[in-house]
Amino acid sequence: TFISDTVPEAPQDPLFSVTSAFYDDPSDKKIDLSIGAYRDGKGKVWVLPVVKKAAALVALDPEYTHEYLPITGLVEFTDAARKVCLGAESGAIKERRVTSLQTVSGTGALHLGALFLSKFYRPNGIDKPPTIYVSSPTWSNHPQILGLAHLPIATYRYFDAANRSLDFAGMLADIASAPPKSVILLHACAHNPTGIDPSPAQWKQLASVMAERHHFAFFDSAYQGFASGSLDRDAAAIRLFASYGFEMCIAQSFAKNCGIYGQRVGCFHFITSPALDADVQDTLTRVGSQLALLQRACISNPPVYGARVVSLILNTPELFDEWAEDLRVMSGRILHMRQQLRIRLEQLGTPGSWQHITDQIGMFSFTGLTEEQCLLMQRAHIYMPLNGRISMAGLNLENLEYFVRAMDRVVR
Ligand code: PMP
Repeated sequence: TFISDTVPEAPQDPLFSVTSAFYDDPSDKKIDLSIGAYRDGKGKVWVLPVVKKAAALVALDPEYTHEYLPITGLVEFTDAARKVCLGAESGAIKERRVTSLQTVSGTGALHLGALFLSKFYRPNGIDKPPTIYVSSPTWSNHPQILGLAHLPIATYRYFDAANRSLDFAGMLADIASAPPKSVILLHACAHNPTGIDPSPAQWKQLASVMAERHHFAFFDSAYQGFASGSLDRDAAAIRLFASYGFEMCIAQSFAKNCGIYGQRVGCFHFITSPALDADVQDTLTRVGSQLALLQRACISNPPVYGARVVSLILNTPELFDEWAEDLRVMSGRILHMRQQLRIRLEQLGTPGSWQHITDQIGMFSFTGLTEEQCLLMQRAHIYMPLNGRISMAGLNLENLEYFVRAMDRVVR
């Protein structure tokens, strides 16, 4: 017998299989609303102008080589990435309470954090990996990544399906009743898949409850700057938690906000609390050395090219300003499409309320279409996952009318 004899076929990734069905469809009407990747007003992939410029500079740089990076990555990149999420004026940075590693995009950062917690976090004297609480629903890869690190998964309420809004009371109650010192995974902004974030006041309530319960916050930041167009606004939740003095960690992705998806540029940050009794630098050395050991086992060292490009953008004031402008272009177009979509559905009198489309933020809209309705949409050559989530970036002024008419038909 062979090992391969006993291997069952794994289910296809539900999202990528929708995308491949789109590619196989010969229709010229087809619309891909599955994968969360930005498209411009013509439906084309958009390389950010600032990324083009930085890539050209890297190509000309005689110092640029293809040598291995250190295990923890490119220092000028990780230092700058830390400032992007925590803010240049962050107390945690000034007090040197952060250790950072460059990772294989956001996914790699989530994985590294999950491995670290699985190996070293033993709250409440229980000698096994801690349970991690994720929102219901959450990004479909979260349970797979966390499960790979042997973290048991529990959920907290998040989406109120009846009202297509945040079930904040449920969220707060579930987080408050989780055992003390639980790990809570939070989407920093532009929640995937719902597009619904807590308000600033709600984030404060969450932070207070988490402080009372001594919970550990694990932030997933995949859309900073992409949601509102402002890097600062989209980092407000992370910065609020950091200002409370939590010990916490952040998985940071530059895939969406730099449109550099395939280059796999990301960062993992671990922040120690200012209330720590032990010496901070000694603590960071211990934590950082274990993270480096895990990183070595997983990937040896992170990829160099994308990190150089992003580092150049983050560390060159003119390029940074240009990046901020590119972020406004992407987020602005998406906000415009949200408005147009809602207006057209309301003009057609499509049954139901469509306010949630403009209340939601970021790459996705949770339309509220049922599985059956999503299948009908696919028959009309519109490809979206069966949970009713659409990638807003897939809509533009050329295909909006076709999309709206199809949606109107399947809802009636
Ligand atoms: N977290 C969330 C919530 C996401 O939506 C994504 C991208 N789809 C990621 C993390 C990670 O993406 P990447 O590995 O491409 O940075």
